[in-house]
Amino acid sequence: MESKDILILANGEIRDEIIAAGIEMLRTGASADDVAEKVARDVEDDADEHSVGFSGLPNVLGVVELDASFMEGRNRRAGAVAGVRNFRNPIVLARAVMERTPHVLLVGAGAERFGDEIGAERKEMLTEAARNIWIERMHKIGLSDFDIQALQNPLAPQAALIDIVQRAFNMRDGSDTMNVFVRDASGHIVTAVTTSGVAWKYPGRAGDSPIIGAGNYADDRYGAAACMGLGEIAIRVGASARGVHNLRFGMSMDEAGADVCREMSSYLAKGQWVRMLMLDAKTGSVGGYATAEGLHYKVQRLNEDRPTKYEAMKIAA
Ligand code: ASP
Repeated sequence: MESKDILILANGEIRDEIIAAGIEMLRTGASADDVAEKVARDVEDDADEHSVGFSGLPNVLGVVELDASFMEGRNRRAGAVAGVRNFRNPIVLARAVMERTPHVLLVGAGAERFGDEIGAERKEMLTEAARNIWIERMHKIGLSDFDIQALQNPLAPQAALIDIVQRAFNMRDGSDTMNVFVRDASGHIVTAVTTSGVAWKYPGRAGDSPIIGAGNYADDRYGAAACMGLGEIAIRVGASARGVHNLRFGMSMDEAGADVCREMSSYLAKGQWVRMLMLDAKTGSVGGYATAEGLHYKVQRLNEDRPTKYEAMKIAA
Protein backbone atom coordinates (compact mmCIF):
# COMPACT_ATOMS: atom_id res chain seq x y z
CA MET A 1 0.00 0.00 0.00
CA GLU A 2 1.38 3.38 -0.93
CA SER A 3 1.60 5.88 1.88
CA LYS A 4 1.56 9.56 0.99
CA ASP A 5 2.22 10.72 4.53
CA ILE A 6 3.56 14.25 4.51
CA LEU A 7 6.86 14.28 6.36
CA ILE A 8 10.32 15.72 6.89
CA LEU A 9 13.26 13.45 7.63
CA ALA A 10 16.66 14.88 8.55
CA ASN A 11 19.77 14.38 10.67
CA GLY A 12 19.50 13.91 14.40
CA GLU A 13 21.52 17.06 15.13
CA ILE A 14 19.14 19.47 13.39
CA ARG A 15 17.21 21.71 15.79
CA ASP A 16 13.58 20.63 16.31
CA GLU A 17 12.28 24.14 15.52
CA ILE A 18 13.77 24.01 12.04
CA ILE A 19 11.93 20.81 11.17
CA ALA A 20 8.71 21.97 12.86
CA ALA A 21 8.81 25.22 10.86
CA GLY A 22 9.14 23.14 7.67
CA ILE A 23 6.10 21.05 8.64
CA GLU A 24 4.17 24.26 9.26
CA MET A 25 5.01 25.38 5.72
CA LEU A 26 3.72 22.05 4.38
CA ARG A 27 0.50 22.49 6.38
CA THR A 28 -0.11 25.75 4.59
CA GLY A 29 0.43 24.16 1.20
CA ALA A 30 4.09 24.90 0.44
CA SER A 31 5.76 22.64 -2.12
CA ALA A 32 8.28 19.98 -1.09
CA ASP A 33 10.91 21.88 -3.11
CA ASP A 34 10.41 25.12 -1.17
CA VAL A 35 10.35 23.36 2.19
CA ALA A 36 13.49 21.31 1.50
CA GLU A 37 15.35 24.44 0.46
CA LYS A 38 14.16 26.38 3.51
CA VAL A 39 15.08 23.65 6.00
CA ALA A 40 18.53 23.26 4.42
CA ARG A 41 19.04 27.05 4.42
CA ASP A 42 18.16 27.29 8.10
CA VAL A 43 20.77 24.66 8.91
CA GLU A 44 23.36 26.42 6.74
CA ASP A 45 22.73 29.63 8.69
CA ASP A 46 23.14 27.94 12.07
CA ALA A 47 26.50 29.03 13.51
CA ASP A 48 26.45 26.24 16.11
CA GLU A 49 26.67 23.65 13.36
CA HIS A 50 30.34 23.20 12.43
CA SER A 51 29.91 20.91 9.45
CA VAL A 52 27.42 22.78 7.32
CA GLY A 53 27.37 26.26 5.79
CA PHE A 54 28.24 29.23 8.03
CA SER A 55 30.86 28.18 10.56
CA GLY A 56 31.67 24.93 8.75
CA LEU A 57 35.21 23.65 9.27
CA PRO A 58 37.64 24.69 6.54
CA ASN A 59 39.92 22.82 4.18
CA VAL A 60 43.61 22.36 4.99
CA LEU A 61 44.36 25.97 3.96
CA GLY A 62 41.80 27.33 6.39
CA VAL A 63 39.25 28.13 3.66
CA VAL A 64 35.65 26.93 3.86
CA GLU A 65 34.59 25.07 0.72
CA LEU A 66 30.97 24.01 0.47
CA ASP A 67 29.17 21.21 -1.38
CA ALA A 68 25.41 20.91 -1.86
CA SER A 69 22.86 19.07 -3.99
CA PHE A 70 19.15 19.17 -4.60
CA MET A 71 17.04 16.47 -6.27
CA GLU A 72 13.36 16.11 -7.02
CA GLY A 73 11.87 12.68 -7.44
CA ARG A 74 9.07 13.35 -9.93
CA ASN A 75 11.31 13.75 -12.97
CA ARG A 76 14.62 12.94 -11.31
CA ARG A 77 15.94 16.43 -12.00
CA ALA A 78 18.93 17.48 -9.94
CA GLY A 79 21.39 20.29 -9.36
CA ALA A 80 24.59 20.52 -7.35
CA VAL A 81 27.60 22.68 -6.57
CA ALA A 82 31.01 21.67 -5.24
CA GLY A 83 33.94 23.55 -3.75
CA VAL A 84 32.02 26.82 -3.44
CA ARG A 85 33.57 29.59 -1.37
CA ASN A 86 31.93 32.59 0.26
CA PHE A 87 28.25 31.97 -0.38
CA ARG A 88 25.79 32.01 2.47
CA ASN A 89 23.47 29.30 1.12
CA PRO A 90 25.00 26.78 -1.27
CA ILE A 91 21.67 24.91 -1.37
CA VAL A 92 20.17 27.92 -3.17
CA LEU A 93 22.85 27.57 -5.86
CA ALA A 94 22.25 23.81 -6.13
CA ARG A 95 18.51 24.22 -6.66
CA ALA A 96 19.11 26.99 -9.19
CA VAL A 97 21.53 24.78 -11.15
CA MET A 98 18.63 22.32 -11.45
CA GLU A 99 16.04 24.92 -12.37
CA ARG A 100 17.98 27.39 -14.49
CA THR A 101 20.72 25.52 -16.32
CA PRO A 102 20.95 22.47 -18.58
CA HIS A 103 23.57 21.08 -16.14
CA VAL A 104 23.63 19.03 -12.96
CA LEU A 105 26.93 20.00 -11.32
CA LEU A 106 28.92 23.25 -11.25
CA VAL A 107 32.22 23.46 -9.39
CA GLY A 108 34.56 26.09 -7.93
CA ALA A 109 34.92 29.38 -9.78
CA GLY A 110 32.16 28.53 -12.26
CA ALA A 111 29.73 27.77 -9.46
CA GLU A 112 30.66 31.06 -7.77
CA ARG A 113 30.18 33.00 -10.99
CA PHE A 114 26.76 31.35 -11.30
CA GLY A 115 25.97 32.33 -7.70
CA ASP A 116 26.72 35.97 -8.49
CA GLU A 117 24.67 35.80 -11.66
CA ILE A 118 21.56 34.60 -9.82
CA GLY A 119 22.09 37.21 -7.09
CA ALA A 120 22.86 34.72 -4.30
CA GLU A 121 24.18 36.31 -1.12
CA ARG A 122 27.92 36.26 -0.59
CA LYS A 123 29.30 35.79 2.90
CA GLU A 124 32.59 35.00 4.61
CA MET A 125 31.81 31.55 5.95
CA LEU A 126 34.79 31.03 8.24
CA THR A 127 34.00 31.99 11.81
CA GLU A 128 36.53 32.72 14.52
CA ALA A 129 35.45 29.53 16.31
CA ALA A 130 35.98 27.35 13.20
CA ARG A 131 39.31 29.07 12.49
CA ASN A 132 40.52 28.33 16.00
CA ILE A 133 39.62 24.65 15.64
CA TRP A 134 41.62 24.58 12.37
CA ILE A 135 44.66 26.26 13.97
CA GLU A 136 44.51 23.86 16.90
CA ARG A 137 44.45 20.90 14.50
CA MET A 138 47.40 22.27 12.48
CA HIS A 139 49.40 22.75 15.69
CA LYS A 140 48.48 19.23 16.77
CA ILE A 141 50.02 17.71 13.65
CA GLY A 142 53.22 19.69 14.19
CA LEU A 143 52.82 22.87 12.13
CA SER A 144 54.33 26.05 13.56
CA ASP A 145 52.59 29.44 13.59
CA PHE A 146 54.84 30.40 10.69
CA ASP A 147 53.73 27.32 8.68
CA ILE A 148 50.09 28.10 9.40
CA GLN A 149 50.47 31.71 8.29
CA ALA A 150 52.14 30.54 5.10
CA LEU A 151 49.17 28.24 4.34
CA GLN A 152 46.91 31.28 4.42
CA ASN A 153 49.14 33.61 2.46
CA PRO A 154 48.51 33.40 -1.29
CA LEU A 155 51.85 35.12 -1.93
CA ALA A 156 53.89 32.57 0.05
CA PRO A 157 55.49 29.69 -1.87
CA GLN A 158 52.95 26.88 -2.18
CA ALA A 159 53.30 24.38 0.63
CA ALA A 160 53.26 20.67 -0.17
CA LEU A 161 49.83 19.68 1.08
CA ILE A 162 49.60 15.95 0.46
CA ASP A 163 51.45 15.02 3.59
CA ILE A 164 49.71 17.66 5.73
CA VAL A 165 46.30 16.38 4.61
CA GLN A 166 47.32 12.80 5.38
CA ARG A 167 48.34 13.76 8.88
CA ALA A 168 45.47 16.12 9.63
CA PHE A 169 42.59 14.14 8.18
CA ASN A 170 40.32 12.43 10.66
CA MET A 171 36.61 11.89 10.89
CA ARG A 172 36.11 13.14 14.41
CA ASP A 173 36.45 16.83 13.65
CA GLY A 174 33.91 17.62 11.00
CA SER A 175 31.47 15.06 9.75
CA ASP A 176 27.85 15.89 9.82
CA THR A 177 26.44 16.58 6.41
CA MET A 178 22.82 17.67 6.50
CA ASN A 179 20.39 15.38 4.68
CA VAL A 180 16.85 16.73 4.32
CA PHE A 181 13.97 14.71 2.84
CA VAL A 182 10.55 16.23 2.28
CA ARG A 183 7.46 14.50 0.97
CA ASP A 184 4.38 16.58 0.19
CA ALA A 185 0.69 15.68 -0.08
CA SER A 186 1.03 14.45 -3.65
CA GLY A 187 3.70 11.94 -2.68
CA HIS A 188 6.39 14.08 -4.29
CA ILE A 189 9.83 13.67 -2.68
CA VAL A 190 12.63 16.25 -2.62
CA THR A 191 16.04 15.72 -1.07
CA ALA A 192 18.51 18.47 -0.16
CA VAL A 193 22.06 17.78 1.02
CA THR A 194 24.48 20.43 2.22
CA THR A 195 27.89 20.32 3.87
CA SER A 196 31.28 21.91 4.35
CA GLY A 197 32.64 18.41 3.70
CA VAL A 198 35.23 16.62 5.74
CA ALA A 199 37.45 18.94 7.73
CA TRP A 200 41.06 19.63 6.61
CA LYS A 201 40.45 18.30 3.09
CA TYR A 202 42.73 19.01 0.14
CA PRO A 203 41.52 22.19 -1.65
CA GLY A 204 39.09 21.27 -4.39
CA ARG A 205 38.11 17.95 -2.85
CA ALA A 206 34.44 17.18 -3.50
CA GLY A 207 32.69 14.62 -1.35
CA ASP A 208 29.59 12.54 -2.01
CA SER A 209 27.12 15.31 -1.16
CA PRO A 210 27.21 17.02 -4.58
CA ILE A 211 27.43 13.73 -6.48
CA ILE A 212 23.93 12.63 -7.47
CA GLY A 213 23.64 8.89 -6.92
CA ALA A 214 26.35 8.89 -4.24
CA GLY A 215 25.28 11.28 -1.47
CA ASN A 216 21.77 12.03 -2.71
CA TYR A 217 19.06 10.34 -4.76
CA ALA A 218 15.28 10.72 -5.00
CA ASP A 219 12.71 8.90 -7.10
CA ASP A 220 9.00 9.36 -6.31
CA ARG A 221 8.27 5.86 -7.62
CA TYR A 222 10.52 4.01 -5.17
CA GLY A 223 11.95 6.29 -2.50
CA ALA A 224 15.01 8.31 -1.62
CA ALA A 225 18.37 7.99 0.09
CA ALA A 226 21.12 10.36 1.25
CA CYS A 227 24.41 9.91 3.06
CA MET A 228 26.62 11.37 5.74
CA GLY A 229 30.11 10.32 6.76
CA LEU A 230 33.13 9.54 4.63
CA GLY A 231 32.01 10.65 1.19
CA GLU A 232 34.74 8.84 -0.71
CA ILE A 233 33.13 5.54 0.28
CA ALA A 234 29.61 6.62 -0.70
CA ILE A 235 30.99 7.69 -4.09
CA ARG A 236 32.77 4.37 -4.67
CA VAL A 237 29.63 2.41 -3.84
CA GLY A 238 27.17 4.74 -5.60
CA ALA A 239 25.39 4.46 -2.29
CA SER A 240 22.20 6.50 -2.58
CA ALA A 241 21.24 5.34 -6.08
CA ARG A 242 22.02 1.77 -5.06
CA GLY A 243 19.77 2.08 -2.01
CA VAL A 244 16.86 3.34 -4.13
CA HIS A 245 17.47 0.75 -6.83
CA ASN A 246 17.39 -1.93 -4.16
CA LEU A 247 13.86 -0.75 -3.33
CA ARG A 248 13.02 -0.79 -7.00
CA PHE A 249 14.09 -4.40 -7.30
CA GLY A 250 11.87 -5.45 -4.41
CA MET A 251 14.02 -5.39 -1.28
CA SER A 252 12.44 -4.12 1.92
CA MET A 253 13.92 -0.82 3.09
CA ASP A 254 15.85 -2.54 5.88
CA GLU A 255 17.34 -5.00 3.39
CA ALA A 256 18.13 -2.18 0.97
CA GLY A 257 19.88 -0.04 3.59
CA ALA A 258 21.74 -2.98 5.11
CA ASP A 259 23.00 -4.08 1.70
CA VAL A 260 24.51 -0.64 0.98
CA CYS A 261 25.97 -0.27 4.48
CA ARG A 262 27.51 -3.74 4.42
CA GLU A 263 29.21 -2.92 1.14
CA MET A 264 30.47 0.42 2.47
CA SER A 265 31.70 -1.16 5.72
CA SER A 266 34.01 -3.40 3.78
CA TYR A 267 35.85 -0.31 2.40
CA LEU A 268 36.21 1.60 5.66
CA ALA A 269 39.39 1.97 7.68
CA LYS A 270 39.39 2.16 11.48
CA GLY A 271 37.65 5.26 12.81
CA GLN A 272 35.77 5.90 9.57
CA TRP A 273 32.02 5.59 9.15
CA VAL A 274 29.12 6.25 6.82
CA ARG A 275 25.41 6.62 7.48
CA MET A 276 22.53 6.52 4.98
CA LEU A 277 18.97 7.75 5.56
CA MET A 278 16.18 6.26 3.47
CA LEU A 279 12.54 6.85 2.66
CA ASP A 280 10.46 4.05 1.14
CA ALA A 281 7.81 5.52 -1.19
CA LYS A 282 5.66 2.38 -1.09
CA THR A 283 5.31 1.88 2.66
CA GLY A 284 5.92 5.47 3.76
CA SER A 285 8.50 4.32 6.27
CA VAL A 286 11.83 6.01 6.94
CA GLY A 287 15.03 4.54 8.31
CA GLY A 288 18.66 5.16 9.06
CA TYR A 289 21.50 2.67 8.45
CA ALA A 290 25.02 3.19 9.67
CA THR A 291 28.36 1.49 9.91
CA ALA A 292 28.82 2.89 13.45
CA GLU A 293 26.75 3.37 16.57
CA GLY A 294 25.38 6.65 17.91
CA LEU A 295 24.17 8.20 14.64
CA HIS A 296 20.70 9.66 14.77
CA TYR A 297 17.95 11.04 12.60
CA LYS A 298 14.72 12.92 13.19
CA VAL A 299 11.36 12.62 11.52
CA GLN A 300 8.17 14.62 11.84
CA ARG A 301 4.90 13.79 10.11
CA LEU A 302 2.07 16.23 9.43
CA ASN A 303 -0.06 15.21 12.42
CA GLU A 304 2.82 15.52 14.90
CA ASP A 305 3.81 18.59 16.93
CA ARG A 306 7.51 17.98 16.95
CA PRO A 307 10.10 15.64 15.46
CA THR A 308 11.04 12.33 17.04
CA LYS A 309 14.67 11.27 17.23
CA TYR A 310 15.80 7.73 16.40
CA GLU A 311 19.14 5.99 16.30
CA ALA A 312 20.25 4.60 12.96
CA MET A 313 20.50 0.82 12.77
CA LYS A 314 24.09 -0.32 12.99
CA ILE A 315 25.00 -2.71 10.21
CA ALA A 316 28.05 -4.88 10.75
CA ALA A 317 30.35 -5.68 7.83
N1 ASP B 1 29.80 13.21 3.46
C1 ASP B 1 30.57 14.39 3.72
C2 ASP B 1 31.74 14.46 2.79
O1 ASP B 1 32.38 13.43 2.56
C3 ASP B 1 31.12 14.48 5.09
C4 ASP B 1 30.12 14.61 6.15
O2 ASP B 1 29.19 13.82 6.25
O3 ASP B 1 30.25 15.53 6.94
O4 ASP B 1 32.07 15.52 2.35
